[in-house]
Amino acid sequence: MNSTAMVDVRKVIKVFKNAAGEFTVLKGVDLTIERGQFVSIVGKSGSGKSTLLNMFTGIDHPTSGHVIVNGTDLYTGMNESGRSLWRGKNLGIVFQFFQLLPMLSLLENVMLPMDYADMYDFDERPKRALELLTLVGLETQANKLPLAVSTGQQQLAAIARALATNPPLLVADEPTGNLDSRSADTIIRLFEQLVAEGKTVVMVTHDPSLTERTTRNIIISDGELIDESVALALPLLKHRQMLKVTQKAQRLTFTPGQPIMRRDQHVETFFIISRGEVDIVLEGKNNQDFTVSKLMPGQYFGEVELIRGGKAIASVRASGESQVELLALTREDFHDLLKESPITEEAIARTVQHRLDENKSGDQRGWRFWPFG
Ligand code: ADP
Ligand code: MG
Repeated sequence: MNSTAMVDVRKVIKVFKNAAGEFTVLKGVDLTIERGQFVSIVGKSGSGKSTLLNMFTGIDHPTSGHVIVNGTDLYTGMNESGRSLWRGKNLGIVFQFFQLLPMLSLLENVMLPMDYADMYDFDERPKRALELLTLVGLETQANKLPLAVSTGQQQLAAIARALATNPPLLVADEPTGNLDSRSADTIIRLFEQLVAEGKTVVMVTHDPSLTERTTRNIIISDGELIDESVALALPLLKHRQMLKVTQKAQRLTFTPGQPIMRRDQHVETFFIISRGEVDIVLEGKNNQDFTVSKLMPGQYFGEVELIRGGKAIASVRASGESQVELLALTREDFHDLLKESPITEEAIARTVQHRLDENKSGDQRGWRFWPFG
């Protein structure tokens, strides 16, 4: 299989078997991570985060499905030792507990992966390792044993070690879970710098203050990924509820310029924009259209009409740029959702109020429309 993405996970199922029986930890996961992205993965304890990461580190293997990393199909035509060699050159891995060898100095720890992958001339390795320790601010600690430096510094050394073979992808499983917030901040700044230099970083974390700093946040709930636009549009839902919306929503595709909702039509659907943009359009005098506003991925429309029982007073149309993907919830599912999540109901009520207020000010300027934007 081919993929130009950095990570391409396709229909991955992972079943663990033990004395108690079978347990499906990943239930058909699809995930594409493009090169140069800084991605966080969050989810409750036991939701499958580490299992998912280990699908693309090649440390574990899927029960079914495909995983393509940096162009290599990890589980088709490659055995365990092949994967291990591949990993040494393509991947840096950072764990919560740093796993430095205690009897080796920081410098020697950083040189280990170079030895293992047989990369760089023997004489060149100490110099390269020192460069990496300098990158993470540990140049003066290079000859110390791990236990002689702080936990934050041990983790920085572990990151230097993960970068030893200059891999394009860095994978980190709760890298700041064992650190104070200042050390955690240093680690994230280092990741940001690596991403700016072109690396791809994927990080599992528990800390919501860190997910704000990544360019993309993926939520896993009970072995399934939540649609990212659902999480953006309805951030106050519990993960379990976001997953329900992800599962219930119908996926619709529109070509540029295609009408989605028409003025005066009865509205029966709540829409979340998943990809592309939509235009909120008014027909002015002389049948001239004009676009009042644009909505982006993670924004929604249709809620004003569903809540107030009205007809659409503006038309909605796929923008002229690229294909538009929407998630559509029925009126019934939408109202069930509001019943289940009072804080989401309040948040949507505030949006409705805001849009109605804009409508009023639009009226004063001579416009007639439901203000979606
Ligand atoms: P997370 O990292 O989100 O906390 P994990 O991916 O470690 O979750 O685990 C997800 C579920 O899979 C848990 O219920 C865990 O007990 C189970 N699990 C993980 N590894 C194994 C294994 N090797 N054998 C059996 N069950 C496992
Ligand atoms: Mg874990």
